[in-house]
Amino acid sequence: MTAEEARVVASVPKGLYLGGRWVDGDAGLAVDDPATGEIITDIADATPADGLAALSRAAAVQESWAAEAPRARGEILRRAFELIMARVDDLALLMTMEMGKPLGESKAEVTYAAEFFRWFSEEACRIDGGYATAPSGAFRVLVMRQPVGPCLLITPWNFPLAMGTRKIGPAIAAGCTMIVKPAKQTPLSMLALAQIMTEAGLPEGVMSVLPTSNAGAFTSPLMADPRLRKVSFTGSTEVGRVLLKQAADQVLRTSMELGGNAAFIVFADADLDAAVDGAMIAKMRNVGEACTAANRFLVEASVATAFAEKMAARMGAMKIGRGTEPDVQVGPLVDEPTRTKVADLVADAVANGASVVTGGRSLGGPGHFYEPTVLTGVDGRARVNREEIFGPVAPVRAFESEAEAIALNNDTEYGLVSYLFTNDLDRAMRVCERLETGMIGLNQGLVSNPAAPFGGVKQSGLGREGGRMGIEEYLETKYVALNIRGA
Ligand code: NAP
Repeated sequence: MTAEEARVVASVPKGLYLGGRWVDGDAGLAVDDPATGEIITDIADATPADGLAALSRAAAVQESWAAEAPRARGEILRRAFELIMARVDDLALLMTMEMGKPLGESKAEVTYAAEFFRWFSEEACRIDGGYATAPSGAFRVLVMRQPVGPCLLITPWNFPLAMGTRKIGPAIAAGCTMIVKPAKQTPLSMLALAQIMTEAGLPEGVMSVLPTSNAGAFTSPLMADPRLRKVSFTGSTEVGRVLLKQAADQVLRTSMELGGNAAFIVFADADLDAAVDGAMIAKMRNVGEACTAANRFLVEASVATAFAEKMAARMGAMKIGRGTEPDVQVGPLVDEPTRTKVADLVADAVANGASVVTGGRSLGGPGHFYEPTVLTGVDGRARVNREEIFGPVAPVRAFESEAEAIALNNDTEYGLVSYLFTNDLDRAMRVCERLETGMIGLNQGLVSNPAAPFGGVKQSGLGREGGRMGIEEYLETKYVALNIRGA
């Protein structure tokens, strides 16, 4: 660890952020650097009792927090946005150390994360209601919007800050209190954010950040507690299903941002170089460890070979290394099980007839590195068609017709995002209407934006984060039938 890295790690509190106060917890949650395998630091490990104590704090201040002026809530978010931007370099270095992505990508995520706070600082003042005369004229329909109440926010390791601010931002804007449970691999970014929230003026009790080594044991008592009113989860569909079953017992409000199996569809009429540019972003952002990562490249047969060759040239030339080193474009995968899964999926595709055009190997030495890989001739039996790769592997499969491309896109239980490259406007709109996904990148390899409604259909999730809809997830609607005497 360099002196600069040690300084940044030392600046992060290692205790539990419980109701806005730092407390000592049980010691022993180790955070490692996936590029070297070295332990970066140990932090406190929250217990189920810590979780319930945080819920007590959240429930105790829910009413006063809900009564806080919307402008005041928005200004806390605005100050937090500015503090994050002032510390972008330190936060990015911390993120690269605990998660592995190259420094430039970490900076991009820190900025993206901060933008959710800027967006929702503005949305706090746009919560509206309604007033109308009932059709019969007999009374008035008054509609008010109120915060849902205490929320449990569970986030994954792949975007350690942005997946948190995408939930914390609207929860604060709406007037909800919250317990944030970050992923055990990447808790440091969220602990650094907790420090910022206090500096930004977030009142005590509103927010807790509790990393834990045993997620299920930690969250189950919270999910069973009637004081909790909502769970918002970003992570795998498998864990999402568990939480949905638990949520049923309390009839909790739920927001679920789950897994994906994105198709990247290229028609022969597309600008092939632009499609490759888009594909590089859709595939290689976050080393492929993104729910939005292109998982299946479906390319019209007449241009499939040319597309694969161009991709292989670009992927094969990428610089691999620790994300803190200059010009590195491909960092390590987050842990060994993730790398093993990627290697297994490539082996399975090859066993089913695919050819490796470039890459296809785990790298030796410390760290969980895997070469950027392009596969061609991937057929329907290969597991990559059905499972999230979560790594730098681009399987290319040829199709013959528009109808076949749509059918292949929709042949999955997931429905998060698709990418579509074509220069034919009629085709673009025809296909967009038939793709079973919550989002589409049309001639574009990136869809994520704080001002847009992010989310999936089918088993990719429930609800939307960001955009005008993002705050709705944290608001209840109350209707008052209003009788005005003499009116
Ligand atoms: P994961 O294993 O589902 O974990 C996500 C979070 O859930 C972590 O904080 C984890 O804690 C926690 N968790 C695990 N088991 C739990 C349980 N039984 N009860 C309650 N919480 C539990 O997913 P991941 O591997 O971190 O993230 C990758 C997945 O997230 C991929 O499927 C990806 O597609 C999805 N994702 C979706 C979106 C989206 O917006 N749709 C965005 C990013 C990622 P621990 O860390 O302690 O295990």
